[in-house]
Amino acid sequence: MNDKTNNLEVLARCSFCKAKLNRHDLTLVLEKRQQTVFHATCSQCQTASLILISGGDKGLLGVGMITDLDKEEVKKKLVTEAITADEIINVYAALKN
Ligand SMILES: [Zn+2]
Repeated sequence: MNDKTNNLEVLARCSFCKAKLNRHDLTLVLEKRQQTVFHATCSQCQTASLILISGGDKGLLGVGMITDLDKEEVKKKLVTEAITADEIINVYAALKN
């Protein structure tokens, strides 16, 4: 099952400059049922972002948002504050509107 990685290459783009993110730019920080969160650092502009890949009946959805946290901080936050991927989507939606 390499689907996730393949989809990742399609869905994962830098939130800032839209450059395609490479596999080695990405660090898995949270995996929960059908939702996976990666921390990515763009090799073009060095912007750190969170990439959320959500898979479900409606297909795969990828959203990205710029973060100023490094991957260790993100991990810690996700674990200690028990932020769910849904909440990340909510934060993302709130930022967009
Ligand atoms: Zn970039």
